[in-house]
Amino acid sequence: MKYRRLGITNEKIPLIGQGTWTYGENKSEALEEIKALRFGIENGLTLIDTAEEYAKGGAERIVSEAIKDCRGDIFLTTKVSAKNCSYKSVIEAAERSLERLNTTYIDLYLQHWPSKEHPLEETMQAMEYLVDKGLVKYIGVSNFTQQLMDDAQAVLGSHVIMCNQVGYHLNDRRVENDIIPYCQKNEVTVMGYSPFGYAPQFFGGVGFPEQGTMERQILDKIGRKYGATAYQVALNWILRHEKLITIPKAKTITHIKSNLKALELTLSDEDLQLIDTYFPKTNEGMSLVKY
Ligand code: NAP
Repeated sequence: MKYRRLGITNEKIPLIGQGTWTYGENKSEALEEIKALRFGIENGLTLIDTAEEYAKGGAERIVSEAIKDCRGDIFLTTKVSAKNCSYKSVIEAAERSLERLNTTYIDLYLQHWPSKEHPLEETMQAMEYLVDKGLVKYIGVSNFTQQLMDDAQAVLGSHVIMCNQVGYHLNDRRVENDIIPYCQKNEVTVMGYSPFGYAPQFFGGVGFPEQGTMERQILDKIGRKYGATAYQVALNWILRHEKLITIPKAKTITHIKSNLKALELTLSDEDLQLIDTYFPKTNEGMSLVKY
């Protein structure tokens, strides 16, 4: 496994973690989900990303089963929902997550989305309380614009924002214009989510290029040079930035193995240029969405 440092810390986190969105939604798939997480852990994917919102706590319960005999080896990330971002609710949400995860601490606790109703100051004060109590090791945010990251840091006092988790894939390169350079300058980890594109209900659902499209043919063609799949090319391309890791969700063992192998590629400059041509960067930066 390859590692990067979390924020300004000496904490080593793997370049690829494991996402858990939709885990816990369907009881009949629980064993498969636990098995997938455990296979990933055994192969170095020791960072797990979950959230109180996923399956209304069901994903955190699946994670707790998968890590029950190896908690110490895991870098556990979970998130407080925007609606629970008052001072009191953040603390209560964290306590509920700890209970579902069956652990005494969360490695990285993120505000899931900017909140419409709760001032950042309150949310961040609660985050500080959780760190001071030893219930959370590191504070982070998700879906935060550059301005909001500045605002959050300004109210945090001595604690530091270690991570911004944002959408990043071939068809959404907006964070390259603002969040990635900002985070590199300020030594904040970028945790890219949905590396294979957005689900239909999310940001218009720009998913992975389908078979038969020109974009897919290009990825397949690049992949053939390295004995790799289009998905491996897409995943490796994301990881070319310093200070950035990604968290694919893969329930299938073949997919997990494929994602691990993606770490071994080195895309040539010529191939990176080809990707720029077919998946161009736009001028927009990250948009502000509040819940
Ligand atoms: P994703 O990881 O981009 O894509 C997941 C899909 O890709 C699944 O259908 C999976 O199939 C498939 N897949 C995985 N590896 C593959 C491979 N090597 N070849 C072909 N298909 C492959 O999507 P995501 O779940 O939206 O994002 C990942 C994680 O990011 C989430 O699970 C969640 O933890 C986090 N996230 C955070 C936010 C936020 O607001 N902070 C938003 C969205 C997501 P199988 O499962 O069948 O293997």
